[in-house]
Formats: sequence, structure tokens, C-alpha cells
Amino acid sequence: MIVLKSAADLQQMRAAGRILAEVLAELRGMARPGMILAELDRRAEEMIVQRGARPSFKNYRPEGAPYAFPASICASVNEEIVHGIPGSRKLREGDVLKIDCGVYHNGFHADSAVTVGVGKISPRAQKLIDVTQECLAAAIEQVRPGKRFGDIGAAIQAVAEPAGFSVVRQYTSHGVGRELHEGFSLPNYGEPGVGMLLRPGLTIALEPMINEGVYGTRLKRDGWTVVTKDGKLSAQFEHTVAVTTDAPEILTRLD
Ligand code: MG
Ligand code: MG
Repeated sequence: MIVLKSAADLQQMRAAGRILAEVLAELRGMARPGMILAELDRRAEEMIVQRGARPSFKNYRPEGAPYAFPASICASVNEEIVHGIPGSRKLREGDVLKIDCGVYHNGFHADSAVTVGVGKISPRAQKLIDVTQECLAAAIEQVRPGKRFGDIGAAIQAVAEPAGFSVVRQYTSHGVGRELHEGFSLPNYGEPGVGMLLRPGLTIALEPMINEGVYGTRLKRDGWTVVTKDGKLSAQFEHTVAVTTDAPEILTRLD
């Protein structure tokens, strides 16, 4: 079901988004060589709870999941695309770390992710990160009434593919609001002018996953962690964005 948000709903989502932006800004700074992933998770949960909110991911169990997600962030390193479980792994110089987090506050979720280079990273890894960030910016630019889902997917492909990278098909962007995954999936690839029409009040978690090599994916034995089929790098950025009557509003940005 498609849920359109009222002005009051959006106010709540802004509050959740603000908390999440603060958490991700802090974790970004902590992601240095030697840092343990579980420590990032612990700090995220602490910050969320201190702000009177709840981590959206902890104990989340979508249909088909083997068990509830055990942490407040997803931490996915290098060839891991999404849904990595933060454990005892230590970050190393050159790692490409994706931190994905969700905050539930006053009845609404916000969902956002960043990719961070750990210490000095390769030029190729930096290019992948830069292009993925450009993909998200291009996607957000399409978040306007009258545009369609296909316009968003096509905008992502138009940035990623000429750069020599691929767009993950298996996992998508999605509606977000009273539910973490609410109402619809939105592919990060598509054809302009095709698909559902955007309307003011729609809130979307836009999250292109861009691979260095092929777009195929594989699920690891832990039942959660998704990796690239060819073992090459992957990057992701995500913002929760609202369709307004004109320009897109990013709900998970600090400023
Ligand atoms: Mg997310
Ligand atoms: Mg999401």
C-alpha cells in the first residue's frame, strides 16, 4: 500500500532523519584502521537511545530472513554489498566500508547509508565511492512530482554504467515511513517515463548499490550478508527523501 505523508508526519520523519544523520557523521569519523565493527554498532545504538529513539534494524526480521538482524547497523566491507553483521572484524587500511543505519522515532523510520574509505584507499575504490555518491545525487534530482520510478533508475544507470560500473538488480530502494520497508520497492535501474508516478507526500529510501564488476550477488552462509558474485568491490549511499510539490527534500542530511 502506498502511504502519503502529511505535513505532521514529515515533521516526525525529519526528527528521525536528523538523529540518523548525527549517528552516521560520528561513525564515519570512527571508521579508521584498527576499529572493530561491533564497536561502531555499539556507539550507534548508544547515540540512538540517548536521543530517545530506537534502532530500526535491531531485531528486524523481514519475510524470508533466517533470523532477526542482531545489530543496529549493517556494516559491509569491500565485496560485501549490504546487510553485513558487525562483529569482531577489524577495519584495515584500504577497506571500503558501508555503514547502513535506521532510526525509529515517534512512529516513523529514517534509513540512510554511507560508504567510507578506511585510511588510504586505492584510486579505483575512490572512483567507485565518488561515482556511487553521484548516482544517489542523480537519483534524488528525479524525486519530483510527475516523474516516474523508471526516471530514478535510469538516472542511476546513466551515471554508473558509463563509468564502467554496474547497478545491483537484486536489491532495491523502497518506501519508508511508519514501516522500515513501506509499500513499494523501487529498482535502481529502469527506463525513463516508465513505472509508478511520484506524488507529494511519498517518502523513499533511495539506496543505489554500485559494483566495480558484475551486478550479480551471492548470499553468504550467515543468511544475511550479500556479496558481489565476482568478489570485486561494492559501494552504497542512501538517503530518505520526500517528494514535495517541487524540489526533493532530503530528510537524513545534516544542515
Ligand atoms: Mg538502509
Ligand atoms: Mg533502505
